[in-house]
Amino acid sequence: MIAYVGIGANLGDARANVRDALARLDAYPGCRLHAASGCWRTAPIDSSGDDYINAVAAVDTGLDAHALLAALMDIEQAHGRERPYRNAPRTLDLDLLLVGDAVVDTPTLTVPHPRMHERAFVLAPLLEIAPDIAIPGRGRAADFLPGVAGQAIARLD
Ligand code: AMP
Repeated sequence: MIAYVGIGANLGDARANVRDALARLDAYPGCRLHAASGCWRTAPIDSSGDDYINAVAAVDTGLDAHALLAALMDIEQAHGRERPYRNAPRTLDLDLLLVGDAVVDTPTLTVPHPRMHERAFVLAPLLEIAPDIAIPGRGRAADFLPGVAGQAIARLD
């Protein structure tokens, strides 16, 4: 099964943190990195600090959605993430976007990620590695791109 993970960083060497997250996803028990987008630079939304570096990873895994969320939290913790206040700048933020065609809605986990279709920094890197992907319950991810055309985002080399 392929799961998609949104990666964002805006503290320290953000690109290095994104690359390190990809390596940790690949090394995580039960996970294997299947594909990774390039890095994209975006202005912060609902957050403060420098621009974000964002990417999306496709992970080949047998873990279910809750186990994957725990894995993402482990990897975030490994970066010494601190949460002094809500939406504070962070060294590494991992979001579980899609888990195969699973639909999960519990107090601690919502999959597909409920705001992924509203964010250029998710859609652009996701479509780079999965141009035909559908968001369960919403339809083709590509159909949401026009709606986020006003969000500033640039692909890095
Ligand atoms: P954040 O501040 O974005 O890192 O929020 C993390 C919190 O959102 C965690 O406590 C999760 O339980 C919750 N959450 C719900 N759905 C998701 C999801 N699809 N991916 C990541 N976190 C989620």
